[in-house]
Amino acid sequence: EVDKDTVRKVIDDARKAGISVLGLEALPVLEAYGIPTLKYRIVDSADKAVATAKEFGYPVVMKIVSPQIVHKSDVGGVRVGLDSDEAVLNAYNKMMRDVKVAVPHCQISGVLIQQMAVGGKEVILGVNRDPQFGPLIMFGLGGIYVEVLKDVQFRVAPLSEHDALGMIYGIKAHQLLEGVRGEKPADIEKLVEFLQRLSQLVTDFPEILELDINPVKVYEKGTGCLALDARMTIS
Ligand code: ADP
Ligand code: MG
Repeated sequence: EVDKDTVRKVIDDARKAGISVLGLEALPVLEAYGIPTLKYRIVDSADKAVATAKEFGYPVVMKIVSPQIVHKSDVGGVRVGLDSDEAVLNAYNKMMRDVKVAVPHCQISGVLIQQMAVGGKEVILGVNRDPQFGPLIMFGLGGIYVEVLKDVQFRVAPLSEHDALGMIYGIKAHQLLEGVRGEKPADIEKLVEFLQRLSQLVTDFPEILELDINPVKVYEKGTGCLALDARMTIS
């Protein structure tokens, strides 16, 4: 049920192009292992950006696609909530200017238009390789929970269901996923599945050195999770 050929091809193409850090180009790798994202397309003109946004339906998100840019928001390379043709057109022109100012010599492959995720909670899934233990899978809640509070859990791959549940319930803020103040609980079963699929991916492909899925949107129990962004380092 996993599509190893797609992953193989993404890795081989990147190597041929001399690229070792992939951004949104890594989304097909996740999809090949059953980690879905929202509909997206990479386009290379303002007209195509507008046409794609119309086709997907408003609102949409726009992201810069450049091999030199890994933290897109830091350079004005992410715009969410674009809700009209005019908003998309303006965002495209502004993004091209902002990004060139922030990173003067970057190559720009285009922009990615993505459907906008509404609601849900943001979590982060990651992998890095420890010289002694091999692939380490990371889990945390998005935003300040990871960046400021360092509230994360690590386990060595391959992950059992028990390991994955231990990671999710192991973070200090786990109650935020269980539903507080009348909120419905999040889809923890789907998160367990995503963690195990990520574990399988990096076990099957030792050439994946690091992989971050930040954020994953988690919806209510029974309604699933979606990867919205990716960053992958290959050997
Ligand atoms: P980067 O991490 O490179 O700055 P992201 O793609 O992660 O870029 O986008 C930054 C933030 O924008 C995300 O953490 C998320 O909060 C929001 N975001 C990104 N894509 C979407 C989307 N499709 N729908 C809703 N919000 C999004
Ligand atoms: Mg991100």
